[in-house]
Amino acid sequence: MSQQPGPDRRTTDAVAAAGSRLDSYVDRYATRTHGMTASEVRSLFAVASRPEVVSLAGGMPNISGLPLDIVGSLMHDLVTKRGMSALQYGSGQGDPVLREQICDVMRPTGIAAHPDDVTVTVGSQQALDLVTRIFIDPGDVILAEAPSYVGALGTFRSYQADVVHVEMDDDGLVPERLAEAITTTEASGRRIKFLYTIPSYHNPGGVTLTSARRAEVLEICRRADVLIIEDDPYGLLGFDGEVPRAMRADDTERVVYLGSFSKTFAPGLRVGWALAPHAVREKLVLAAENSVLCPPAFSQLAVSEYLSGHDWLGQVKDFRETYRERRDAMLSSLQDLMPESAHWTRPSGGFYVWLTLPEGIDTKAMLPRAVTNRVAYVPGTAFYADGFGSRSMRLSYCYPTPDRIREGVRRLAQVVEQEMELRATFGAWGSPQRPGLDAPAPDQS
Ligand code: PMP
Repeated sequence: MSQQPGPDRRTTDAVAAAGSRLDSYVDRYATRTHGMTASEVRSLFAVASRPEVVSLAGGMPNISGLPLDIVGSLMHDLVTKRGMSALQYGSGQGDPVLREQICDVMRPTGIAAHPDDVTVTVGSQQALDLVTRIFIDPGDVILAEAPSYVGALGTFRSYQADVVHVEMDDDGLVPERLAEAITTTEASGRRIKFLYTIPSYHNPGGVTLTSARRAEVLEICRRADVLIIEDDPYGLLGFDGEVPRAMRADDTERVVYLGSFSKTFAPGLRVGWALAPHAVREKLVLAAENSVLCPPAFSQLAVSEYLSGHDWLGQVKDFRETYRERRDAMLSSLQDLMPESAHWTRPSGGFYVWLTLPEGIDTKAMLPRAVTNRVAYVPGTAFYADGFGSRSMRLSYCYPTPDRIREGVRRLAQVVEQEMELRATFGAWGSPQRPGLDAPAPDQS
């Protein structure tokens, strides 16, 4: 957030002051750590991970379909046959063979890249950290969808960026609102460093930017000279098998594209990448070397062997089928059980549904009651830098089985019903809604 004193800053300072009794280092921490606060719902998640609770909260990929015997023997061979390189330091930019393979992995998105422009990172989360580190000074503005990925918002906060949210609807980011946000932000004298966007199978929105809008977003950013960070960990996980065309495929200079093997192979290996224009790539590698020297050789070679020695695309197809079945279970249960005044997105890929409840319900306040009723979700406010989203929540269908999903939605619907009764008795509360996914026009609900 910005360095100017404001309500957020006062709140974090107050929290820090309260913690000082416990933390004798508090007056030594750098200012940037003030934004690094534990999630308010973290304690509830400890409860939510109990087996009796159906967690629709986490975004853990379902890796139970992975052929662990094949992966195990591949890793065994890696150590016995290539141990001298697999267990050694490597290049700061990443293994050259893997970088070539990454270019092949990106090809279905329309991207024709050169391995020199690829930097391997420790998950795409590190790529997010590196781009933020090289572009953001405290108070710089990052444009991001409303809502946006919670892990990116945490990173942006830790570099003291000011996030300006831009409305989305069922077709993704709304180009007119983007143009307005750019004009208003620039008119206020603030510097926009980049637009952060997840165009395909959005986390947490569950929506996908249409191809017409992709062209418009590119055009608006070109005209305003705004760099785009295109975060695409779910692009290959579309349920109809189609891979949306990446914006990077149509502009090699304005877009930094982030990819990951976390959802198409295994998150535990922590391998992702950034594809960046040449000059940016050089800075990224320097920043990465400062941070981790080099990405882990073992993980990179394991991914590389998996890609070359296994039908990894067949595996991705299996993942898609699994997630499609779970998406269907969630959407049909929501349709059967949620009140008419609730509305939700209908993802065509990825892991998430964004659910917005009737007016007056505050999903953060409702969470303890939901957990008592043995179901968990992530309240909508976690996905905003500015306190919006109080009526919404993210539901993920990637991990629980279809039966558990149906049971989870059933329990959630019971809590929503009780909450609506309470509101009818005691009156509504909750914060105002931002237009867009949280409060669509009446004809959309
Ligand atoms: N971006 C988005 C949109 C995500 O959903 C995630 C993980 N949930 C990441 C980045 C980070 O993924 P990883 O570091 O595992 O590649």
